[in-house]
Amino acid sequence: MTIDQYRLEEEPTYHPSGDEVAFYESAYAARLPVMLKGPTGCGKTRFVEHMAWRLGKPLITVSCHEDMTASDLVGRFLLGPEGTHWQDGPLTMAVRHGAICYLDEVVEARQDTTVVIHSLTDDRRILPLEKKGELVHAHPDFQLVISYNPGYQSVLKDLKESTKQRFSAVDFTYPMASVEASIVASEADVSADIADKLVKIAEKSRHLRGQGLEEGASTRMLIHAGRLIKTGMTLTDACKHAIIVPITDDPDMRGALDAVVDACA
Ligand code: ADP
Repeated sequence: MTIDQYRLEEEPTYHPSGDEVAFYESAYAARLPVMLKGPTGCGKTRFVEHMAWRLGKPLITVSCHEDMTASDLVGRFLLGPEGTHWQDGPLTMAVRHGAICYLDEVVEARQDTTVVIHSLTDDRRILPLEKKGELVHAHPDFQLVISYNPGYQSVLKDLKESTKQRFSAVDFTYPMASVEASIVASEADVSADIADKLVKIAEKSRHLRGQGLEEGASTRMLIHAGRLIKTGMTLTDACKHAIIVPITDDPDMRGALDAVVDACA
């Protein structure tokens, strides 16, 4: 596996909402670690892909989950026909070869995982591979980016203060209606009229957050609905399958969302 396979060949389309592109360019120039804060499906991953392409750097993305251990990030010894050999994990690969490493939903990972990133996020910029007995000094182009959804966190699953304070950060929210409608229209290849209707439905669903809905419909869900409409499905059915059924099991909440869709269809 070579690092070149992590280079983005085509520009990932990204519609900016504010000064996030300029901020990221400065953060990268200063090699500051970056935290992207915001709800799921609002464009964080797409943004980091776009920035990696813009800066011409390879991007290694890791989706963090609760069973993930430090070894999954750093690497491990594997048993092969000729004995054991070391295999770099995705983080080590990025550190050695100067990629941007994006840890998506980092709080999902176990605490020992977040400790691994500490020595990379201060002036030392080193990664100790304890099992291998090696200290890897980060390539000058290496940068660490994490995403964090403030809405989901419980006290048990939050980033430690000592971790948070190592990052520069930018807030992501759903884009303003006109921008979100152009994203939906271009990503799902639907008309502006349909995109506008989907965005209106999403905005209303977001107002139900905290009243029984953990989160409203994300931009990603609107794109899914748009893609179903593109196949010939009605707007009502598309919203049911791409938005309402995935986000809630509560019959009253489903009823409330059905009413929102009927009002906008
Ligand atoms: P997150 O990482 O925040 O969960 P993603 O970056 O995966 O969300 O966004 C979900 C989808 O929404 C993307 O695949 C893309 O199609 C679309 N999207 C969201 N925001 C934007 C944006 N600003 N520009 C272009 N596409 C976007």
